[in-house]
Amino acid sequence: MIPYGRQSITNADINAVIEVLRSDFLTQGPTVPLFEKTVATYCSVKHAVAVNSATSALHIACLSIGLGPGDWLWTTPVTFVASANCGLYCGAQVDFVDIDPLTYNLCTKALERKLKDAESKGLLPKVLVPVHLCGQSCEMEAIYNLAQRYGFKIIEDASHAVGGKYKGEPIGNCRYSDITVFSYHPVKIITTGEGGIALTNSPEFAEQMLLYRSHGITTDTKKMHARPSSEIWNYQQTDLGFNYRMTDIQAALGISQMTRLDDFVYKRQRLANRYDEFLAGLPLVTPWQHPDSYSSYHLYPIRLKLGANGKAQRQVYDALRGSGIMANLHYIPVYRQPYYEALGFKAGYCPEAEKYFKETLSLPLYPTLGVTEQDYVINSLKLAIYSNKV
Ligand SMILES: *Cc1c(COP(=O)(O)O)cnc(C)c1O
Repeated sequence: MIPYGRQSITNADINAVIEVLRSDFLTQGPTVPLFEKTVATYCSVKHAVAVNSATSALHIACLSIGLGPGDWLWTTPVTFVASANCGLYCGAQVDFVDIDPLTYNLCTKALERKLKDAESKGLLPKVLVPVHLCGQSCEMEAIYNLAQRYGFKIIEDASHAVGGKYKGEPIGNCRYSDITVFSYHPVKIITTGEGGIALTNSPEFAEQMLLYRSHGITTDTKKMHARPSSEIWNYQQTDLGFNYRMTDIQAALGISQMTRLDDFVYKRQRLANRYDEFLAGLPLVTPWQHPDSYSSYHLYPIRLKLGANGKAQRQVYDALRGSGIMANLHYIPVYRQPYYEALGFKAGYCPEAEKYFKETLSLPLYPTLGVTEQDYVINSLKLAIYSNKV
């Protein structure tokens, strides 16, 4: 069986975890701050708040910006549901901007048109969540300029893009955004088992996110409300927060994984280039790369161009799975999920996203994928395509 993605764990990773298990602190010890410092330094960003998932990071990012009832969050339909759900958690409404047919990222032109229209109706978004699909950066400079003009905040969902670059700089430096979020789920670029992080250059957002991560509790006497000095007030809850903390066990794994991040991305790029080379000439489109982007290649989505037969994508998917190749689909447009349809969204809302949904399949791609296994994927794909030729 060849999965579409998987983690790489070495003895060094295992030993790093064991060391924490033998130490005094399994959580709230020194290892989480060390991991945060490691990531912040790598990304050239001022503040890092590690949490138990990217989903949690998106939630506290939205809260720290003050997203709430009556506000709008916009994102792309071609993403994991978490990029949109964070808006609903805050009581805000969610809307979607169709994708660019070349990059499959949120389309900057469609965004501009939608903003103009929303402005005339007084319905501008408070938060935009651009998602760097597959690890390829959105056009952040243009999006940032629109944010300046229309006054919304930007949370980059860079769950796929750990180790990637935009215009030669690390994704996560927040040059063109307020907050950037990474995921450390095992299928992503590096892992902490479960985990995520929120990065920002704003001390205010960082402070708010730290509070929301841990129940809204502070131990900082300067932030505490006045109480009689005869009473013991060694902490105060000043906000309604959550327990979204990362453990020191997870952080140790993260620190160890960070030492191999560049190598992981390099290997993913090499395998992606091999796919590009060996899939050329087949009736499909390989992922186009924007010149401003250095992709971490979390995913390698192909677009099947098999003609009028609507069953073709499904047949290729089934054939690959029948050969033990766990090809996957990234993603069903979020608004097509039953939960979102119940909110009023209808099929056909974002035509480019739906076209993509009906043509795409993600091929296996991860640093430990061997060349022989990759060749097996390529040959099985050829068989699957030509045995179903219409
Ligand atoms: C994986 C993923 C998330 C959620 O990450 P978790 O760490 O599993 O919560 C959010 N957004 C995108 C685009 C993802 O791929």
